[in-house]
Amino acid sequence: MTHGRTYLDCNASETLRAAARSATLAALDVVGNASSVHAEGRRARGIVETARETIAALVGARPVEVVFTSGATEANNAIIAAGWHELAVAAIEHPSVLAPAEASGTSLTRLGAGADGVVAARQFERWAALPAQTGGRRLAALHLANNETGVLQPVAEVAELAAANGFHLHVDAVQGPGRLAVDFSLSGIGSMSLSAHKMGGPKGIGALLLREGVELSAFIKGGGQERRRRAGTENIAAIAGFGAAAAAVAADAAAAQRMAALRDRLERELLALTPDAVVIGAGSARLCNTTSVALPGLVAETLVIQMDLAGIAVAAGAACSSGKVGASHVLAAMGLPPEIARGAIRVSFGHASTEANVTAFIAQWARIAAGRTGKSTGPRDAAPAQRQGAGRQRQEVV
Ligand code: PLP
Repeated sequence: MTHGRTYLDCNASETLRAAARSATLAALDVVGNASSVHAEGRRARGIVETARETIAALVGARPVEVVFTSGATEANNAIIAAGWHELAVAAIEHPSVLAPAEASGTSLTRLGAGADGVVAARQFERWAALPAQTGGRRLAALHLANNETGVLQPVAEVAELAAANGFHLHVDAVQGPGRLAVDFSLSGIGSMSLSAHKMGGPKGIGALLLREGVELSAFIKGGGQERRRRAGTENIAAIAGFGAAAAAVAADAAAAQRMAALRDRLERELLALTPDAVVIGAGSARLCNTTSVALPGLVAETLVIQMDLAGIAVAAGAACSSGKVGASHVLAAMGLPPEIARGAIRVSFGHASTEANVTAFIAQWARIAAGRTGKSTGPRDAAPAQRQGAGRQRQEVV
């Protein structure tokens, strides 16, 4: 935890795990290139392959199915760009899925979310039942858990549909490891993306898991690394840290329960203080560590800044971009009223979170709530966001 700060933004980036830190530092001293045949090169190769095995084991994959990338953004871009004839993506996917899908020029179907934050599996069923267009290589993307609301998506159901209907299902599972079981072995899942820094590893390293037999030509060309999929000398230090983080996640089975207890206490206490607060997706199955909550009458930016000044890091469900305030595309797709969508902040716990973190958050929440002059602050706070609604920017919550 950073000195004196309360860090509650683990969906944006988890606290670095001690084992990941030491593995990363140790690997920085490894001189060899993993492609070299001499002893130094073999040592570097050993680090890469050990990490590959650990990461594969964490998610029920086989080591040959793991392609290291610079992170989940690259993994999502790579699979979307792999020459599909038709794409169907959930409207509440991360921008690293949505943007390449929109830019692909491929026939694209966006599947909406309900007010509960869930993208219904029957939408994929309907899409799959449509006659295939030219060529028939079809990809559907559905994430495991939403990064903003924590709401879990029906991946197992859609995987069954994919297996039965012959489309490729890509699962962005970034928010899963350490919070819930992730299972790449489910038949019907064609690919999956992971990110080390969301599970306590270093930033800038991730993986695309790719089912054997799925065609994917090199997405970075110029070398034979990663089974000719991604050229370039492997980032040994980051890969070592990723592997160590995966091992630590596997060994810390109690973390999810710890985070769930903290999250439940936070929600209980904040609803007792402010019964008009709205916990988004409260009725749905959610990640154990995530609360997305709006306090009517306050906009998210104000809340985030007030929290930050009090030493508490949380995320806004709406962000300022080029001086304009835009509602989150996730909350907008759920059809939430603008005053709720613009007020939502995200609190996300991690493996190192403590009861003291909840206490600090709740104390500040109480101060902010006391500063509200009832509903009368609502229009004053909400007005700038609403006035700027016409120039809305796409929200990018990490
Ligand atoms: N997918 C989801 C659901 C995310 O939350 C994030 C985080 O920003 C990403 C993808 C991108 O991951 P990375 O930071 O590894 O590029």
